[in-house]
Amino acid sequence: MMYETLRDECYEANLQLPKLGLVLFTFGNVSAADRDKAVFAIKPSGVPYDRLKPADIVIMDYDARVVDGSLRPSSDTKTHALLYKTWSDIGGITHTHSTYAVAWAQAGRDIPIFGTTHADHTHQDIPCAPVLTDAMIEGDYEHETGNQIFDVFRQKGLSYRETEMVLLQNHGPFTWGKTAEKSVYNAAVLEELARMAYLTLQINPETPRIKDTLRMKHYERKHGSNAYYGQGC
Ligand SMILES: [Zn+2]
Repeated sequence: MMYETLRDECYEANLQLPKLGLVLFTFGNVSAADRDKAVFAIKPSGVPYDRLKPADIVIMDYDARVVDGSLRPSSDTKTHALLYKTWSDIGGITHTHSTYAVAWAQAGRDIPIFGTTHADHTHQDIPCAPVLTDAMIEGDYEHETGNQIFDVFRQKGLSYRETEMVLLQNHGPFTWGKTAEKSVYNAAVLEELARMAYLTLQINPETPRIKDTLRMKHYERKHGSNAYYGQGC
């Protein structure tokens, strides 16, 4: 009973993935952290969404050890654990193989910032982390996937609080946020931004990025210290 609320939060967030058209079959996973208890809940490996039950959700610590649950956790669990361990204020992580985000990842391209839809969510291009080295793939692959995410953020001088999404070359997207629900929202936003950027380049392959004043206007009015978008709280 101790983890019932956390399991429910994780379960509900996972069910959003097929509803939003972000996954097929068993692709993808969402996790939800409880920072007070220093654990996270994650989807079990290979269980279809229509058969998933809250009790199936596995509780893990940030070193990827099972704390509670009888099923094997998602094969991506070590990536989730390392992100929670290193970025201590995130509360949810989503991984999908959504089509347009994967297309950019397979092409090994950052998603350029072309318009205000993108700037409303982050003021940077969405980074694509390079494919892992053979040693990383043959070693502790899922843990190294986390390291590859940190590397691209370091190299590009990005903040994980400002850009809550990344692509991994030849693989697909990871997104995160304050809650599991926000990480799912970010996964849906990323898929839409990937689709819009793809279509933009079909119409005009030479499209320039959005200009800086408009880019920062849209980002700051939603996320800056004087944000005025929405109704506040
Ligand atoms: Zn994957």
